[in-house]
Amino acid sequence: MRRRRLAHLPTRPTWRCQSCGIAWPCSAAKLSLLGEYRGKRSALVTYLLVLRDEAAAQHGTTAADLDDRFVTWARSR
Ligand SMILES: [Zn+2]
Repeated sequence: MRRRRLAHLPTRPTWRCQSCGIAWPCSAAKLSLLGEYRGKRSALVTYLLVLRDEAAAQHGTTAADLDDRFVTWARSR
């Protein structure tokens, strides 16, 4: 039996998780991205920077305002 569950991906233009409904990236999304990009941290950061810029444009805010939410968690560990 297969049940289709929504992946923890952002909806646009609200940038909420399509599965949890909270501000993306949720914890599940972060875990999944860290797994997907294991050993490729710089590629993950690059991907998040693209999403951050897209979200900033849609929110009418600056990229710097969204840096903590989108990118900082992936930079260090
Ligand atoms: Zn989620």
